[in-house]
Amino acid sequence: MYFYGTTGVNKNGHLEIGGVDAVELATKFGTPLYVYDVALIRERARAFKQAFIEQNIKFQVAYASKAFSTVAMVQLAEEEELSLDVVSGGELYTAIAAGFPPEKIHFHGNNKSREELEMALDSRIGCIVVDNFYEIGLLKEICHEKNVNVNILLRITPGIEAHTHDYILTGQEDSKFGFDLQNGQAEQALAEVLTFHQFNVLGLHCHIGSQIFETTGFLLAAQKIVEKMADWNHKFSFEAQVLNLGGGFGIRYTKEDEPIQPSQYVSEIIKEVKKLTEQYQLSMPEIWIEPGRSMVGDAGITLYHTGSSKDVPGVRKYLAVDGGMSDNIRPSLYQAKYEAVYANRPLAQSEETVSIAGKCCESGDMLIWDLPLPQSAEEDILAVFCTGAYGYSMANNYNRIPRPAVVFVENGQATLVVKRETYEDLVKLDLPLK
Ligand SMILES: *Cc1c(COP(=O)(O)O)cnc(C)c1O
Repeated sequence: MYFYGTTGVNKNGHLEIGGVDAVELATKFGTPLYVYDVALIRERARAFKQAFIEQNIKFQVAYASKAFSTVAMVQLAEEEELSLDVVSGGELYTAIAAGFPPEKIHFHGNNKSREELEMALDSRIGCIVVDNFYEIGLLKEICHEKNVNVNILLRITPGIEAHTHDYILTGQEDSKFGFDLQNGQAEQALAEVLTFHQFNVLGLHCHIGSQIFETTGFLLAAQKIVEKMADWNHKFSFEAQVLNLGGGFGIRYTKEDEPIQPSQYVSEIIKEVKKLTEQYQLSMPEIWIEPGRSMVGDAGITLYHTGSSKDVPGVRKYLAVDGGMSDNIRPSLYQAKYEAVYANRPLAQSEETVSIAGKCCESGDMLIWDLPLPQSAEEDILAVFCTGAYGYSMANNYNRIPRPAVVFVENGQATLVVKRETYEDLVKLDLPLK
């Protein structure tokens, strides 16, 4: 087995995270429990930034907060001097409530409402990543009514789809996001936004996929966009100050995944953009990136108590935990794979293969198939690794299961950063029949 960040085994033979015993965490805060290794998040943030700093390139590393958006996480992003991506009024509200500097917030989304855009302008956020023609029209109206100017990026779909080890070049991209580069919509959008004097068009944005393990997709996207930037420089005298290449950097969920280092993504991207801008005689833009999963994914571990089990002779053994698709929907939604150990004896030899089931009324509510583990016993605590991204942020109340608490651990200290939902919370918004 392998450990991430500060995760290891302590003298009691228990799993330890951030210098804190995982069994004690489960006892103190209850289960299911999301535990975050803060030092590892800081390490990731610094690694992404360092590569830019070393090469003296202007940059922003914007944490894509949809991966895990809470007040404490946003404050941690501020401590690490990151920028922040939000994709909804709720994420924007969280950022503002956390006291995040609004000028470092970028607002994404393919269907931002009037209320959300007004909130963004009233909060004086750093920029809006404009996604479609409807939004251009709406944003013009609002800027006009409020008599304010706004920084924008245009979201481009460059015709590259990247996913893990594959990337697909498509003439025209079939995506709900952004302006298509090939069919001329991106150019049409640019022409429109450049003529509206309340828009300050900072540059261009693209996001080509998620859980990407190679740099090729990013480099191809940069090629397509910089080539167009040269075109648009001639046509419109437009020089992009910002080239935002999005997020999607892959992480290791299981031993099969082989991620590359943040510094490698960044240095290869810088090299390519430098080369291309020199080739087309453009000035070097600021490079922005938007890691979400890779900032928090492997820093998160979910702790569960195990409960019932069911043997189907000759088929498999199911072992159920006290959570499931309500706290981690990714296995049911995307067949996502995870690894796990018993936190109370992480180094014990595997003796059986079990499949970890959730407790929701849904056959598809499975967390891990065919996991080798020691013989199960009562009072075991299962620690599932790499649940830090899109776990809590996708948590739900299916079967009216309260959402778990979130704890940050660092230097031997555990801090509760999200309280466990209560049954009262679950009915708080309900109104009686009459
Ligand atoms: C989701 C998203 C990200 C983050 O993706 P990860 O795979 O979590 O790194 C970044 N930018 C945009 C525009 C996104 O939609």
